Amino acid sequence: MSTAPQISGITPLTTIDFPDHLACVVYTQGCPLRCGYCQNPHLIPFESGDGAISWGQVLDFLQQRRGLLEAVVFSGGEPTLQPGLRAAMLTAIELGYKVGLHSAGVSARHLAELLGLLDWVGLDVKAPDHLYPQVTGRTHQPGQNRRCLELLLESSTAFECRTTVDWRLLQPDDLLQLAQQLQQQGVQHYALQINHGGHCLDPRLRQPALIDPGQKALLKARLEGIFPHFEWRE
Ligand code: SF4
Repeated sequence: MSTAPQISGITPLTTIDFPDHLACVVYTQGCPLRCGYCQNPHLIPFESGDGAISWGQVLDFLQQRRGLLEAVVFSGGEPTLQPGLRAAMLTAIELGYKVGLHSAGVSARHLAELLGLLDWVGLDVKAPDHLYPQVTGRTHQPGQNRRCLELLLESSTAFECRTTVDWRLLQPDDLLQLAQQLQQQGVQHYALQINHGGHCLDPRLRQPALIDPGQKALLKARLEGIFPHFEWRE
């Protein structure tokens, strides 16, 4: 019997998680990273929590929404590490859905197994290599992330790279360094997502951190000049 993915919850309708599509988001349980700004710390343990729902319940939902929703986005946590994810994606495709993925790019081997099924990927690129441990709380991640990006660049799957920014962890110069590296690799779509505190994993990041408006305008203009498609998400 195949293993079903561990599901921690579902957003039944979203217009912002898969570009230009009406989608739902299915959240999987478990993530190997420890980003201080993580807004979903309850999704980090690989054991299911109180709000867990079964893949069977998700399937019932997907059956009911056929023809109403266009896509299913698997998010987390880190979905690529779920043993049953490929089978779950195949089922969603059989039901007529496009499949999206949000991933922090922690395992190139796991991403490679899914690539042929994916219509769109949002790949987190957390920081320039030397700051990866500071942002993710884990070492040895930049190499895997870079390999995941190479796989996407070699594939025909549409994707964006995005970086969540807390101004206590990353400075404008760090982001420009990262952006130039991504541009040289061939990334076309890039987004910055600003952390505004709240329920962050690291209590020290729960108050918002601000950037000088002039610095912000300058950084935004430079990033718009680097990428054909750039979004600043507040
Ligand atoms: S923000 Fe970091 S720790 Fe939280 S789920 Fe995403 S990759 Fe994992």
